[in-house]
Amino acid sequence: MSEHVDALVIGAGVVGLAVASVLARRGREVFVIERHSASGQETSSRNSGVIHSGIYYPTDSAKARLCIAGKDQLYRYCNERGIKHKRCGKLIVAQEMQLEQLQQLHKKASANGVNDLELLSRDEVTQREPAVRCAAALFSPSTGIIDIHDYMNCLEADIQAHHGLLITNTRFVSATVTDNGFNVVLNTDNDNTDLSCRQLVNCAGLNALETLKKIHGYPVMRNRDAFFAKGNYFSCQGTKPFKHLVYPMPNEAGLGVHATLDMDGTTRFGPDVEWVKQIDYSVTEARAEQFYSAIREYWPSLPDGSLHAAYSGIRPKLVGPGQPAADFEIEGTEVHGVPGLINLLGIESPGLTASLAIAELVSKLLCVTPNSH
Ligand SMILES: Cc1cc2nc3c(=O)[nH]c(=O)nc-3n(C[C@H](O)[C@H](O)[C@H](O)COP(=O)(O)OP(=O)(O)OC[C@H]3O[C@@H](n4cnc5c(N)ncnc54)[C@H](O)[C@@H]3O)c2cc1C
Repeated sequence: MSEHVDALVIGAGVVGLAVASVLARRGREVFVIERHSASGQETSSRNSGVIHSGIYYPTDSAKARLCIAGKDQLYRYCNERGIKHKRCGKLIVAQEMQLEQLQQLHKKASANGVNDLELLSRDEVTQREPAVRCAAALFSPSTGIIDIHDYMNCLEADIQAHHGLLITNTRFVSATVTDNGFNVVLNTDNDNTDLSCRQLVNCAGLNALETLKKIHGYPVMRNRDAFFAKGNYFSCQGTKPFKHLVYPMPNEAGLGVHATLDMDGTTRFGPDVEWVKQIDYSVTEARAEQFYSAIREYWPSLPDGSLHAAYSGIRPKLVGPGQPAADFEIEGTEVHGVPGLINLLGIESPGLTASLAIAELVSKLLCVTPNSH
């Protein structure tokens, strides 16, 4: 390993890979380090794989802006690179008591610049999705699904093609701020090594706030603890009821237990919200009861015995249960005062959709422009 690199990215999830690929394509010398033996083993491979359209987030929030910009960039990238994806569209279904809330959601989407939604009557919904029961729905034609492993493989290929390096089985241990950047300690196979870098990008996902505590020179008073909200998924076997993604109305805890599709049309349901203290991805069959009742609100004929515990992912939350959802925090020097350090905090959904737009923003904050090399 070289003793100095221009930019070091901590974490090879979809966001770290996107950041490194943009920096590498713009001529920066960049390493990405990952503690596991391969990229994308944590949240990036434990999600719904949905390309969101930007409906739900507060207007002018980073989530709304980066989702909408990121969606277009991601579709373009998928088309250029032949990444498997489908613009399958999504229904947000409202029951009788939720019609006012549906109107509000429509307004919020328009305020966010999502202008392609169609308001559908009960009959129009039945024509598109005969199994769905609702009073009305919003149809989002630009929502889609992506094969996230295919996407991450392409990002990795881009990094390598532009002389960047993905270093797996290597853990970030600590860093110290110096006059020219950072002295970083890394651990590979129980051996510590030193590396210096001019710029450091913290894309450590669930571990991003803990990572900050190990950067000596980062203002201590900014440190805080993370919250984790697990999302469990159940697969639906023996039937493929829907052609589109089907979401209930969002609630305070999240988007509601919705139906998402795999590339082959297989349906799965989730994620719910379970606040946890530890990272534990096990899913218990006992949660199925809650899933049956939530899903039967909009799909009454869900057969008994068709749901099976599948997998879970964990959301990196900046605030705890009962508090209003936090925005993405993308902290540069102007926020914390440390030159060359960018922290990506609370990158929960729609982080996959927004990944290329987040990478563009990081590149801008690091003053890396297409013509800067
Ligand atoms: C249940 C669920 C459903 C979701 N659904 C969607 C969706 O449908 N659409 C959407 O747009 N978004 C969705 N998201 C959000 C999306 O999955 C995340 O925003 C995105 O994957 C975050 O990527 P990341 O690279 O920031 O984090 P991660 O994928 O967690 O990557 C961080 C990486 O850093 C590594 N790391 C951590 N600490 C260290 C260290 N000390 N040294 C070295 N490496 C380290 C980890 O091993 C990991 O690989 C969902 C999230 C969840 C939890």
